[in-house]
Amino acid sequence: MPRYYFINKECPKCHSKMIPDDRDYNFDGCQDEWYVCENENCEVSAFVKVRYGKICRVIWRDGETTISL
Ligand SMILES: [Zn+2]
Repeated sequence: MPRYYFINKECPKCHSKMIPDDRDYNFDGCQDEWYVCENENCEVSAFVKVRYGKICRVIWRDGETTISL
């Protein structure tokens, strides 16, 4: 499996679009974001940590299982 960068906002499992679900906003350029796959039969979600305007961490999950890409 190729490495997925979140910039694609694409589900690594079914290749559907990842859509924003929730956001925890601290200040401009510093936020935590949650995304879910738009495919209702797919349980992939992503947690994205943004610090100083850059993505510093992305954690992918398939249901309750963390997946490393
Ligand atoms: Zn998916």
